[in-house]
Amino acid sequence: MADIMLMGKNPNYIGAYDLYDLDVKEITVTIKNFREEEVVTNGKSEACAVMYFEEDFKPMIVNPTNKKVLAKLFHSKLTEKMVGKRITIHIEQVKAFGKIYDALRIKDVLPRNVSAKKYYCADCGGEIAPAHSMTAEQMSAYTSKKYGRALCEACAVKENQNKNKGEVNNENNENQD
Ligand SMILES: [Zn+2]
Repeated sequence: MADIMLMGKNPNYIGAYDLYDLDVKEITVTIKNFREEEVVTNGKSEACAVMYFEEDFKPMIVNPTNKKVLAKLFHSKLTEKMVGKRITIHIEQVKAFGKIYDALRIKDVLPRNVSAKKYYCADCGGEIAPAHSMTAEQMSAYTSKKYGRALCEACAVKENQNKNKGEVNNENNENQD
């Protein structure tokens, strides 16, 4: 069965559609390397700059707009200055041919937390792993916002089930300010 969001897109590379299901429509990733690859779009083969990530995400085709953002962020056009660095990718609406499209854009500000900090689950004490296309940092921020404490995926699922059950007696609202 064809996913309509993916039709006409190249599923081998990350696209705006990969971010649609996230609550925070952005990802923070670490640049692993760059390669020049032949990418076939609409039957045409084109040499593209492709950026790979340390995290488990599909590589991203770097278009001219995003190349400029990278050069500005790292004050250099050299890929050596970018490898190992963290960036945030989000969706921006761009106007082209009189229509609005979702485009994948590198944010022109660096992610605040530069170190690869570890995050631990408040319930089970385990390290929070990346899940649902979110980094550990984003998982931590997302669960903190949603549940009032940082949770790993398994505990977040449990908490979510409890919350749905607890909605009737409102017990869980006690600690909110
Ligand atoms: Zn946990």
